[in-house]
Order: sequence, then structure tokens, then C-alpha cells
Amino acid sequence: MGMRDLFGQLCLPTLRPGSVWLVGAGPGDPGLLTVHAVSALQQADIILHDALVSEDILSLASANARTEAAGKRGYSTSIPQAHITRRLIELAQKGLRVVRLKGGDPFVFARGTEEVLGLIQRGIPVSVVPGITAGIAALTSAAIPLTTRKTNSAVILAAGHYASEGCGGMDWEHLARAHQPIVLYMALANIGAIAKRLMNAGLSPQTPVSLISNATLATQQVLESRLDCAEADAKAVDMKAPAVIAIGSNVTWRKELVRGIVPLFASVPLRRPHQRSAGKDK
Ligand code: SAH
Repeated sequence: MGMRDLFGQLCLPTLRPGSVWLVGAGPGDPGLLTVHAVSALQQADIILHDALVSEDILSLASANARTEAAGKRGYSTSIPQAHITRRLIELAQKGLRVVRLKGGDPFVFARGTEEVLGLIQRGIPVSVVPGITAGIAALTSAAIPLTTRKTNSAVILAAGHYASEGCGGMDWEHLARAHQPIVLYMALANIGAIAKRLMNAGLSPQTPVSLISNATLATQQVLESRLDCAEADAKAVDMKAPAVIAIGSNVTWRKELVRGIVPLFASVPLRRPHQRSAGKDK
């Protein structure tokens, strides 16, 4: 098999019994796994994976590897983080080769740090394999450059969910004043409240917004919108998580680029449900 030859040439590291690798699984498309991630899947005795990691990716594991779901989806079915760390310790102490497979990158809005610290405290050898984070992959696969010389030379990655009520915790006004594109994770349920705060802090209601769900998968959807109607538009098309929301000047590039880029991923294109006339725009 081609991949095996590639591994031979690359002399990839060995996942040793009794150790844990935290591995980024990327945004969803198995083609966006790293070579290290595939190698980890083939070496693992057990794979403890997030709910977002697809069967297609898990099917790359060796035939005798066990898989175990550990992740959380939204906050309702959340498994306490301490349980996951304890389970990793238990499996490593049995002498197994353990892969902890996390969506995107293990250190981006993923609590990988807690898991690594827990393992270090117990003296368990732990390594981390970076993955392509959803915030970057979603934009690129929706034909939205994260940065361009014409639009922006910085970008803000932010989490849009809240453990507590309302918009507490995040200083959205401060983020708005940076006048740089904002890429939101876990924000679909709160996009209305977030947009309001960004507009109150001075962002134009017409700031372009793109909502990208199931990025890089066959079910990918891209919704073009703007700050003042992002919430209504997402509701109108019944957009579902997981979704990344891009807000800012770089989003305007999509119009031009999407026409010319030949998509690698099948995608369900969406437009704003009701086109507003220029006169109605505030
Ligand atoms: N560690 C992950 C992020 C975990 S938080 C990473 O680096 O990508 C979970 C959030 O990631 C989701 O709420 C959503 O905002 C985003 N996400 C993950 N996979 C996605 C996908 N395929 N399409 C769109 N958003 C995705």
C-alpha cells in the first residue's frame, strides 16, 4: 500500500506500550489527517475518540484496535473531563498503546492541556500530534482566505459558547474594536447575541458573515449572510452544528473565489434565504 511505503521512507516514530498520543483528527475529511495521525491509528491498541470523529477516520485504525467514544457534543451529553483523563491513565497503565483522537487540533478549544497535564502528573509518556483546526479548514474549504494582503493581516479565533448565562466571559466589545476578522467556534446557538454585542461595539450591521457547517465533509453547507441577519438566516435554513462562523472583510473574497475554485468536497450551497433590497439595508 502506498501509505506504508511512505511511512517506511519517513521513519515515523513508534507509539510505545504504556504511552499516550494526543492526536488531532482534523476537521472531518479523512484526507486531511496528517501522516502522523494515520500512523498513530495503525499503531494503536485503543483509540479514545471524540464524538465528532467520523467512522471514515476510525476505519483507518488497524483491524485489532479497539475504539471507545469519549467525547462530548454540545454541553448536554458532556462527559466530565476528569473521567476522560482518568480513563487515559488507566489504559496506559495497562501497558496499551493509547491514542486520544480529538477533532481538529488537540490544543485548540479542546481541553487537550488538561489531559496532557493529568498524564504528566502520573509519569505517563505523552506526545501531541497537531491537526488542522476547523476554524482554518472551514474557511479555506468555503473559498474564504483567512488572511489576504488586501483585507487583513490578523485574525481572531474565539469560542462562542458559554458555560454561564448570556455573553459573559468574553469581551466582545474589545474584539470588535480590533477591526480584524473573527472566526467563531461553538457559536451557532449564540450568534444572535454575539452579533448584537459586536454591532453595539461599532461593527457595521452589513459586515459579511459566512456560516460553514460540517466543513470538509460531504454534508458541508456554506451560508452567506451578514452581521445583522446571521441568526435569522441560520434559523431559516435550519443550520446545524458543528459550524464555524467567519465575520469580517476577508469573507467578501468568497464571491470571487468560489466561482473559480474546483471544489474537492461536495457541498450544499446556500444563499441568504431572502435577498434584501439595497433600500432596506440600514
Ligand atoms: N479542537 C477542535 C475544536 C473543538 S470545539 C479544532 O481544532 O477544530 C468544536 C467546534 O469546532 C464546533 O462547535 C465547531 O465550531 C468546530 N468544528 C469542528 N469540526 C467542524 C466542522 N467539520 N465544520 C465546522 N465546524 C467544525
